[in-house]
Amino acid sequence: MTRKILVTSALPYANGAIHLGHLVEYIQTDIWTRFQKMRGHECWFVCADDTHGTPIMLRAEKEGVTPEQLIARVHAEHSRDFAGFHVAFDNYHTTHSDETRYYAEDIFGKLKAAGLIEVRSIEQYYDPVKQMFLPDRFIKGECPKCGAKDQYGDACESCGAAYAPTDLKHPYSAVSGAKPVLKSSDHYFFKLSDPRCQAFLRQWTQHEARLQPEAANKLQEWLGAPGENKLTDWDISRDAPYFGFEIPGAPGKFFYVWLDAPIGYMGSFKNFCTKKGLDFDEFWGKDSKAELYHFIGKDILYFHALFWPAELEFAGYRTPTNVFAHGFLTVDGAKMSKSRGTFITAESYLTQGLNPEWLRYYFAAKLNGTMEDIDLNLDDFTQRVNSDLVGKYINIASRAAGFIAKRFGGTLLHGHVAERFHADLPGIIEAAEEIAGLYEARDTARALRRVMALADQINQYVDKNQPWTLAKQEGQEAKLHEVCSLLINAFRLLTIYLKPVLPKLAQRADEFLNVAPLHWTDAEYLLPPAHLINPYEHLMQRIDPKQIEALVAANRESLEPTVAPIAVSPAPSFAEPHSPQRHAQHQQATAAPPPQPSPARGEGVGGGAFAPVIGIDDFARIDLRVARIADAQHVEGADKLIRLTLDLGDGGTRNVFAGIKSAYDPAQLVGRLTVMVANLAPRKMKFGLSEGMVLAASDADGKSPGLFLLSPDSGAQPGMRVK
Ligand SMILES: [Zn+2]
Repeated sequence: MTRKILVTSALPYANGAIHLGHLVEYIQTDIWTRFQKMRGHECWFVCADDTHGTPIMLRAEKEGVTPEQLIARVHAEHSRDFAGFHVAFDNYHTTHSDETRYYAEDIFGKLKAAGLIEVRSIEQYYDPVKQMFLPDRFIKGECPKCGAKDQYGDACESCGAAYAPTDLKHPYSAVSGAKPVLKSSDHYFFKLSDPRCQAFLRQWTQHEARLQPEAANKLQEWLGAPGENKLTDWDISRDAPYFGFEIPGAPGKFFYVWLDAPIGYMGSFKNFCTKKGLDFDEFWGKDSKAELYHFIGKDILYFHALFWPAELEFAGYRTPTNVFAHGFLTVDGAKMSKSRGTFITAESYLTQGLNPEWLRYYFAAKLNGTMEDIDLNLDDFTQRVNSDLVGKYINIASRAAGFIAKRFGGTLLHGHVAERFHADLPGIIEAAEEIAGLYEARDTARALRRVMALADQINQYVDKNQPWTLAKQEGQEAKLHEVCSLLINAFRLLTIYLKPVLPKLAQRADEFLNVAPLHWTDAEYLLPPAHLINPYEHLMQRIDPKQIEALVAANRESLEPTVAPIAVSPAPSFAEPHSPQRHAQHQQATAAPPPQPSPARGEGVGGGAFAPVIGIDDFARIDLRVARIADAQHVEGADKLIRLTLDLGDGGTRNVFAGIKSAYDPAQLVGRLTVMVANLAPRKMKFGLSEGMVLAASDADGKSPGLFLLSPDSGAQPGMRVK
């Protein structure tokens, strides 16, 4: 029976690059939808960029472009990255679309008519300079628990405490630096606490096949015991200025993420239906018989399994068949980290020349359909791809193909292939349904283990029959032909089983095998006798460990402030605001290095733990020069900065803002020599462009006992290289 299946992945936020953490979800969803298509089902995979919100608005402003220009550029980048990893959406749309606006307004109107929308006045921090309400992540201050400075309004990155923005000590706006004031405003709420929502969700979540067991447990916890009412109402509006959809009949009020981003699932599918001539209601209508699945990160489970079904139910739409939550990605057992080079973007992986199917295979070998985190262990990655894909799977074709081409004109055996196949390689055809069941359950880890067990069995057959030995023996021509024909057939079957994971490799294998694109049902039979295959070209390279080293080096941010604390930003930067209420993947990065055990570490050095070891090549990339401070000036409005004019001899002069005002008077600096990083990317600051940075020593916390500007011994000349 042909199923009708609609599948979504969570919408990536249009404010940053796709990285390997994101790809866990898109690759997982892509494998599953490719599998369904191979099975002959009508399966559609749609997604979109999540484009609205304050971070987008402010970033566009900072870049001097319109939000529309910003999201168009990011849409192109995201599309390029997904295509690079063979993530084959049927439609990749944007939430800034007429379709999404239509459904947002429609759902809001219906919920309002059902009495599930309420207006309440709430107090929030407001930036009096920028004249806007501040999202939690745009308020900074001192952690109320540990006193760490410059912490976000929702959680402390130093001690891990969670709190409300109003708990921060000495709060300031990360947008303007101004002290925020509390101001009240009317917000729209969806009444999730309404008894109708409670009753519906208790019944909806109890559907036995609906949720993963660990997700069902979570929901029980969130819903509480029968009779308890633990659900709270959800704020679904934000005040102008905001980039998004204005709420009908509410000037200056905009739909917040929950009432527009996920509606992008519907918007994208509607857009696709229009292009493709499909019936939207067949998939989203109240009486839809189609299946609807959302693949998501585990952090947005609450939203997708409670708020979203309730929103759909009471607006007269169908609810999801199931929600598939996955865990997060760690690299080498730790959170992805910029300082260690494990915060790897999709783009850098591809531009470093790594094969995207290596990563698809590795992720698939780890994903088992649960909410457990998965780890990308870089050594294991190299070893497993080389051993499984090249050593076991590709090996089967490469052992047989040459003999078929050279000795038998590219033609497989004329005689009884099937009989010999079943006798010598039993169970390989028969495994098809078992493997299909594992794909269906999203347990790709077990599916691939099963396929590799078959590959082992086939390689044992190779070792036992040794085609290379048969080829040298008189009178073994027929046996050689038979062995190689069986191996080509076995290779074809494994290709079918691996195709959802390795679509490009399978496409090249189809060409080599001289067959139409393989479907799952093609595993029911073998190639016909005397089938002609094409000349074999090597299908996959091994991973060279040097490629992994280069990838990590390319993603490492080499200058850590423990060594060179200067050129700090005057105002807190909002270049990369986190958006915790958007999606999981945005929260995975950790900018600060975790404590590194270091064998050479001496206690009491005062500069904190040593940064990870680097090679001489890493160091050589930093161009350090002797500079003469030609001029030094106070910077109006900045309490930490001094503007330095640095003379680099033949290298000209540079303007650098240095955060050394606490330790130096500008007048005493003029004329002295120091050392600067001459090839640091220029940085646009509130007060002008900073073209490098000067080096100074300080304690780890930058406070006591002060700052010490570096100087060369006398005789050094401006412009000299420091090595
Ligand atoms: Zn803290």
